[in-house]
Amino acid sequence: MDSFAQSYAQARSLFLQAAATYGLEVHSKVHPLKGPEGEVLATDAVCIGDANANKVLYVTSGVHGVEGYYGSGVMVQWLREQISAPAGIKIVLIHACNPYGFAWGRRFTEENVDLNRNFWDLNEPEQPFNQAYADIQHFVEYTDCSSAAFEKGQLTRQRYLQEQGPEQLKIALSGGQQQSPLGLFYVGSQPTWARLTYEALVARYTQGCEHLFFLDLHTGLGPRGYADFLHRFGPDAPQLQTLQQYIGDRVLGNERDEATAQGLDGTTIGCFSRLGKQLGFSVLGGSIECGTTPLPETLEALLQEAALHRFGCADEGLKEQIQKRLRDVFYVDADDWKQQVYEQTCDIRDGALNYLKEL
Ligand SMILES: [Zn+2]
Repeated sequence: MDSFAQSYAQARSLFLQAAATYGLEVHSKVHPLKGPEGEVLATDAVCIGDANANKVLYVTSGVHGVEGYYGSGVMVQWLREQISAPAGIKIVLIHACNPYGFAWGRRFTEENVDLNRNFWDLNEPEQPFNQAYADIQHFVEYTDCSSAAFEKGQLTRQRYLQEQGPEQLKIALSGGQQQSPLGLFYVGSQPTWARLTYEALVARYTQGCEHLFFLDLHTGLGPRGYADFLHRFGPDAPQLQTLQQYIGDRVLGNERDEATAQGLDGTTIGCFSRLGKQLGFSVLGGSIECGTTPLPETLEALLQEAALHRFGCADEGLKEQIQKRLRDVFYVDADDWKQQVYEQTCDIRDGALNYLKEL
């Protein structure tokens, strides 16, 4: 699967090449900052099929920067295979929604914001205060970037886990928080470049749209190699039945996505619901989550990388180890994994297209 890249720069180059070979026009939103090699950072978009179609399959990748390897690989492969859109439907692919995070090997944006918590309603003056995060802040935010600090934090965390259990830690951590700008899963004090770009692209590609199905491609949760479909609908919602009908057993519900489970509004799912109402089209869709490594490993990698971002690290060996670890927990660089997640993502895409066809 050589559609999957080894860096942001390579991912972008593969995407642009594949789009050019297919004969598609690329619309690029260039980021104000540069990548680690001085490369241009951009969110790139292509549209497959009739630009005036009133039904849209809208696929986004790299909302969580470093998770972009997966979404990019899938999109490049689709372009190389020159997938076509059924009559009356257009397929929009958005490559690297958080190009800064992708290029610099971070999950978050240049503002240290979790883009998938940044889409809150701007008419809501206050974001909910995450007391659970405040309660655990002292041991999930390391006090410096060193092996000694990590060992000490891990001990405190083990005691907490024994008393409270892992579920509580997950909820406290990943529900989004507004009080610690250098902490994890920070919702941001204002819309980020990535959010504004994301919304501008949705508006651009949904002119005349009546029905939209979105897929937001992520990694890092769930068993290795499994692609699950996460959404925000309760067990009795009619939309859930529709999703099960077209997407099948992969529709997992929201139990793995702590933010949607808590009803928070800052995710891409919330974004599409709001924009659908504003711009006048029906919305269905959700996130695809591809499993990589066990959750404790993923969490530890995130916590250590946050410490590196916050304090820097004089120990080059430790620095490299932290950066590699973060990438490894969001991108399994192995052919069997790539093949598995690719095939499952194609299945979900086809289910979404069938849904749109029958509308
Ligand atoms: Zn993600």
